[in-house]
Amino acid sequence: MAEQHRALVTGASRGIGRAVALRLAREGYAIAGCHSTASEAARQTEADVRVHGVPCYFAECDVSDPEAVEKFVRTAEEELGTIDFLVNNAGITKDSPLVLASYEDWNAVQATNLTGTWNLCRAMAFRFMKSRRGSVVNMSSVAGVYGHAGQTAYAASKAGIIGFSKSLAKEVAAYGVRVNVVAPGFIETDMTDVLGDKLRTQALTQIPVRRFGRPEEVADLVAFLLSDSASYITGQVFQVDGGITL
Ligand code: NAD
Repeated sequence: MAEQHRALVTGASRGIGRAVALRLAREGYAIAGCHSTASEAARQTEADVRVHGVPCYFAECDVSDPEAVEKFVRTAEEELGTIDFLVNNAGITKDSPLVLASYEDWNAVQATNLTGTWNLCRAMAFRFMKSRRGSVVNMSSVAGVYGHAGQTAYAASKAGIIGFSKSLAKEVAAYGVRVNVVAPGFIETDMTDVLGDKLRTQALTQIPVRRFGRPEEVADLVAFLLSDSASYITGQVFQVDGGITL
């Protein structure tokens, strides 16, 4: 019988996180999924994961809260067994030009996107190093690589994830643990639903493939990077962006 893999996916209730949870469940991974608040979307994703017949634990957990993260990881491991794969996908935007931006919004974005990633990696890294296996994918954005007007806080958090991930990759490589980054462009999710028609049309003119990406197209790359097929790849940043940065 094939060995049971177990993956923890943050922000798993909808969008890219939902697609990652379902993609991994289809491959037989047990899934520990967390999300910010209870919602119909979260219940639906949990039910859809269970359709694949894999063990599953879904719960609310604010990734910016280290105690909540520790508790979530502990309970997930009690329910599912030792987790060996981690996808830090939870993220938020609070966009505005810097001159109009608030300190509260800056802090909220860093707390979820960057500190949240740190919290999960901090909770899992020693576990992975002890078992001499593990693979991490952290979700950045093309905004973190190239910058984006109106997204100084978001881009800073996503650039921080890249520096953090490259450094962690160097720290843990000798223990058989890999850390990579996925940087999506515009993907069809609730996060991009809020873009007005004008911004959407403007974005489409800049994307060579002339469409937004699907969450499943990001999930395919995440699944590859977690897998042994990517066993010689660590500390890298991969863009899924329809060529927008060409
Ligand atoms: P989404 O808004 O549809 O979903 C976000 C998920 O994160 C939800 O499950 C939500 O519950 C969870 N979440 C938010 N704050 C949280 C917190 N404090 N603790 C725990 N969970 C929390 O977003 P999405 O579009 O699916 O984006 C997923 C990731 O991909 C994010 O990190 C985002 O920055 C990144 N990304 C998205 C796009 C895009 O175009 N959609 C582009 C580049 C990068």
